[in-house]
Amino acid sequence: MNTKQCEVVIIGGGISGLCVAHWLTKRNVDVIVLEKDAAVGGTMKSVSENGFLVETGPNNALETTPLFKELVSDCALEDEFMYANPASANRYILRDGKLQALPLNPIAFLKTNLFSVSGKLRLLKEPFIGKAEREESIAEFVTRRLGKEFLEYAIDPFVAGVFAGKPEALSVHAAFPKLYALEEKYGGLIKGMIRGGKVRKARAEKAKDRAESFSFRSGMQVLPQAIAARLGDKVIANATVISLQTTSQSGHQLSDKRFLIEYSRNGAAEQVIANTVVLSVPAYAAAELIRQYSPTTAATLDSIYYPPVASVYAGFEQKAIDQSLDGFGFLIPTKERRKILGCLWSSSLFSGRAPQGMVSFTALIGGSRQPDLALLDEETLCDVVLTDLKNIMQIKGKHVYLKVTRWKQAIPQYELGYHHKIKALNQFEMEHPGLFFCSNFKGGISVGDCVKSAHETAEIIGAAISLSQ
Ligand SMILES: Cc1cc2nc3c(=O)[nH]c(=O)nc-3n(C[C@H](O)[C@H](O)[C@H](O)COP(=O)(O)OP(=O)(O)OC[C@H]3O[C@@H](n4cnc5c(N)ncnc54)[C@H](O)[C@@H]3O)c2cc1C
Repeated sequence: MNTKQCEVVIIGGGISGLCVAHWLTKRNVDVIVLEKDAAVGGTMKSVSENGFLVETGPNNALETTPLFKELVSDCALEDEFMYANPASANRYILRDGKLQALPLNPIAFLKTNLFSVSGKLRLLKEPFIGKAEREESIAEFVTRRLGKEFLEYAIDPFVAGVFAGKPEALSVHAAFPKLYALEEKYGGLIKGMIRGGKVRKARAEKAKDRAESFSFRSGMQVLPQAIAARLGDKVIANATVISLQTTSQSGHQLSDKRFLIEYSRNGAAEQVIANTVVLSVPAYAAAELIRQYSPTTAATLDSIYYPPVASVYAGFEQKAIDQSLDGFGFLIPTKERRKILGCLWSSSLFSGRAPQGMVSFTALIGGSRQPDLALLDEETLCDVVLTDLKNIMQIKGKHVYLKVTRWKQAIPQYELGYHHKIKALNQFEMEHPGLFFCSNFKGGISVGDCVKSAHETAEIIGAAISLSQ
């Protein structure tokens, strides 16, 4: 059997795994990335078809960290990088069947029909509300601090847009740690937003609501592809890791054990021996690989819920739509009782996403709000999505292009009690030196959070290796 040797093996060639490999390589650490699919990128997949550029996963990322600029420069992607069109700052929320612009400044907030007068006045109480005494869901936190209407018409649709989740189920501490920290550190959201801004500025980081959206001319997948191209033959595609064991072979840096990783590549069994292993796969896949070390940690990983999500990309002739498409798109509160979670105006967000005279939308359906909808047969699914789109945007005429992508286990839900899960995962890492988790079930689900977690993981591993030399 073909047996390779290297310092660090990274299992999973999504953005998290590739970024760990990238930063370790910059520190001259010998790495191998094993990716089960033929293409790298994991959830980040872009498809060019009939003049439309379809993002089947993330449509954009928020430039919350200078690490993106570093990646773009390291991979010579300056000509590909592009910020979203300025109009995409406008976002809409469906209320009583009509799209209402999300207010972007205090005057717009006073004038908006999105919130009632009593809903607006309720916000004035926020600075005088004390801290919670127990872990709260996002719904409990927001209702307590900002009122029920703000939960229903601002946060509930936002949570659907980010996590495809429900604010009643997610832990505010785990899912929105920065929001939670504003209360913990500064005693309130308004006070915290004013004082916390100075701290972020010092760290050269940007809050998600201030960071600019960006993508690449050929789509988001360009980033993982370029990182993989730079890594060259250190990335092995079509390599599904089947088992992870410890071996008695010596020569170790971080612990007294080495790891034997077995994988199947194009049907043939291969293996690699490494000192350190980074699990950059979804929680349910990581569970299978570490079960023999700790059935309880595997059970913790198994318990992380990934609801299904379907993404339906639709192209129309521009003349079929009277509605002005001057924005990012719209999100739908649960209270509006629609089927879709929301819709991105893909061709407004970035240029070059649809042929001349055409527009394109990406609608998301399912999530933990209505998971069964994501699993409908393709014809029914398209009917349901197109009915909502046509009704909300008064589209006249038939679509000219349609593409459905299903993510059967889409996004990890940071539910109530999630910090206990993270504690258990951290404990496992401490008890098993040389094994690391680095994927979107730890440290945040956005592309930016994955990049930051990957950088941190590479720094920890790189520093430990340097110390042991
Ligand atoms: C529909 C959708 C839309 C999204 N939109 C946005 C957005 O607009 N903006 C944003 O910031 N974020 C968005 N996200 C979230 C973001 O895209 C993900 O959190 C992020 O890409 C996850 O990256 P990852 O590397 O941690 O995991 P993944 O992308 O899941 O990568 C894991 C990799 O591991 C591989 N793998 C699994 N098992 C094995 C094995 N046994 N052996 C070898 N390889 C294995 C997989 O094939 C995969 O390539 C979206 C997510 C979804 C699902």
